Amino acid sequence: MVIGGIEAGGTKMVCAAGTEDGTILNRVTFPTRQPEETCADIIAYFKEWNINALGIGCFGPVDLNRNSKTYGYITSTPKKGWENCNITGIFQNALGVPVGFDTDVNGAVLGEVTWGAGKGLDSVVYITIGTGAGVGVYINGALLHGLVHPEGGHILLAKHAQDSYEGCCPYHKNCLEGLASGSAVEGRWGRKAVELAGQEQVWELEAYYIAQAVADYILVYSPQKIILWGGVMHQSGLFERVREKVKELLNGYVSHDMLKGSLKEYIVPPALGENPGILGAIKLGMLALERK
Ligand code: ADP
Ligand code: ZN
Repeated sequence: MVIGGIEAGGTKMVCAAGTEDGTILNRVTFPTRQPEETCADIIAYFKEWNINALGIGCFGPVDLNRNSKTYGYITSTPKKGWENCNITGIFQNALGVPVGFDTDVNGAVLGEVTWGAGKGLDSVVYITIGTGAGVGVYINGALLHGLVHPEGGHILLAKHAQDSYEGCCPYHKNCLEGLASGSAVEGRWGRKAVELAGQEQVWELEAYYIAQAVADYILVYSPQKIILWGGVMHQSGLFERVREKVKELLNGYVSHDMLKGSLKEYIVPPALGENPGILGAIKLGMLALERK
């Protein structure tokens, strides 16, 4: 059996054919252009692989409500041409296989609980700090949707007294994405985050904001593990700073052995390297096949 997965992003579409044990047989990346041309490329790719099911972990916002007329759509995205796009329907019609659908970050947390750092756990939060910020939530053995889907990348944070940067999120300014995403780092310091290696004050401030968000997710969701990733988390030493500040913020209030010591086993990078999103998409495809 071959299952297709798409990690659908605003700049690129990562597509892979894989098997039910989480092995990636082949992968390709297409730039995200207009829906018609981009989807045509993807359809041709998956026809060649003769897939039995497809899963999509998608940039959003998306409609995940199965009773809605626009289930499986990308809804109000600022990405030109993709607003109100029935991305699930396009592939279902063209490929004639069951299609699973969720947010990109829910896909990533699903990949990690199935085959990675969250294996065997039933409550895990996945946070990505890249160009933007996003949070996938897996609670009591299921992906959390709720009213729409969690938007943990936009939780509001307390500004640091010495930070005069106003934030890059047009909706909130002082949210995680607005203050700590790669775009925010670049907006505040005038250089790309990747070019600011070793600058103490940059990464202290960055950890100050990320730790606030992580502490809040711990208090609200009580996850058994926090998986933290995205381009910005590649910065050397940032994990240690975040772990330290999370401990300070929690101040011993939440009592569990996992929250003692350095938090090295608790706040971790993905075990699937750069693949949690695409493997999670494959798992979404497997789940769609099971439902059928
Ligand atoms: P996207 O979110 O677009 O999928 P990434 O997750 O790769 O992309 O995140 C891109 C962001 O990560 C950019 O802002 C980039 O400057 C930043 N970045 C990449 N590598 C590093 C690094 N080693 N240290 C800090 N920031 C980094
Ligand atoms: Zn925001």
